[in-house]
Amino acid sequence: MNPHQQSVRQLEQVADLLRDQYQDSVEFNQVIEKLKSPNQIIEGEIEVKMDDGSTKKFKAFRSQHNNARGPYKGGIRFHHNVSKEEVMALSTWMTWKCAVTGIPYGGGKGGVIVDPKKLSPKELQSLSRAYAEFIADYIGPWVDVPAPDVNTTPQIMAWMIDAYEGYLKANNRPLQENPLATFTGKPLGLGGSAGRTEATGLGGFFVFEKLVKKLGFDNKKDVTVAIQGFGNVGYWFAYHAHQAGYKVVAVSDSKGGIYVEDGLDPVVTFKYKQDQGKLPGKAITNEELLELDVDILVPAALENVITKDNAANIKAKAILELANGPTSPEADQILADNGVIMVPDVLANAGGVTVSYFEWAQNLQGYYWTEEEVISKLQPLMEDAFEKMWLMKESEQVSGRMATYMTAVKRVVDTMLLRGI
Ligand code: NAD
Repeated sequence: MNPHQQSVRQLEQVADLLRDQYQDSVEFNQVIEKLKSPNQIIEGEIEVKMDDGSTKKFKAFRSQHNNARGPYKGGIRFHHNVSKEEVMALSTWMTWKCAVTGIPYGGGKGGVIVDPKKLSPKELQSLSRAYAEFIADYIGPWVDVPAPDVNTTPQIMAWMIDAYEGYLKANNRPLQENPLATFTGKPLGLGGSAGRTEATGLGGFFVFEKLVKKLGFDNKKDVTVAIQGFGNVGYWFAYHAHQAGYKVVAVSDSKGGIYVEDGLDPVVTFKYKQDQGKLPGKAITNEELLELDVDILVPAALENVITKDNAANIKAKAILELANGPTSPEADQILADNGVIMVPDVLANAGGVTVSYFEWAQNLQGYYWTEEEVISKLQPLMEDAFEKMWLMKESEQVSGRMATYMTAVKRVVDTMLLRGI
């Protein structure tokens, strides 16, 4: 199955569980049918002038899945594996992610088929500008709000804003269209939000604390955590978990992992990695890390690392998915059968898009918040999203992943029904 077919199948499973709540009505079934494919896909080729004077074409997409709850929202990916089916699926998952936290956005996603490592900085800037112009007629603060994703950065957002603003001027379109509020994930010097860097890891930590309470732990020091990935998300999650008194016993990067029985200090570990080029402690492989006898496992690196081949060996009581898509569908079933509690990606890593929403809100007001203000607004949104999922999980006796999707899909369906079909 390609990613789009996967997202459709997932929606059908959720719809089957929700159908009774809507008395299997014609309207409910019409809305579900509509949600199976994006409202609109912008697809074409963008041209980039290369350093050698030649012109190269790259295939580009923007998928706008659903905007019932607010403007389309989602990142732009520069990667050689980008495909139409992938951006369609990713935009669908963004609809669920925004709905699960209750932020007033729909779902979108963009991408360009390119290996950005093969481009010079000048070519990368040209590609970014060309992409912004390619989608310029379809975006805007109340229409579609893109952001960084794989291989796109705050700097790339800055180039895109500049190109978008130029496009508006050249086409006599009013700058009230607010270029700053049209992209999030911007540098701090160009309308970015305080707190964005650590938002995903910290948002995951707020969810983690709620989860630990549900699991009935009395003492933070007794809770052991293993984290795969020690990049932006993994590091900030580890930092906050350690600061709060939990025992982070393992972390890893692409070269492998370490295990420290008494718990490690992420700040010291990170510094060691910077100085020595490797992690300090008893070396373990990434595969061993996933199978450690810990309370909570936190995949925070790549997709598809928990598969049908290793799912049965997972000993953790719960999994907090900070990475996108770390668990394959077959593995998900095995984990559910074994009673492993799952807090899925669309909920666990929604701290990033939530602070993107705060960034947009600040840009629209022209009034900027302190990091403390951002964090104090992030915490209740993440905690509430977790509580709503847990309520659904308990009342419907379904897995954490199903409960999350049911909560999200129900929100979108209810809004679409309110609008009328
Ligand atoms: P990053 O590039 O900062 O860090 C990735 C980490 O994964 C690094 O420590 C890297 O060494 C490690 N890694 C790479 N290959 C690995 C391998 N084969 N085995 C184990 N570890 C490996 O990326 P990030 O921003 O921290 O993102 C991590 C995950 O979180 C991704 O799935 C991303 O889509 C997801 N995510 C990130 C954000 C965000 O705000 N950054 C938001 C939502 C979801």
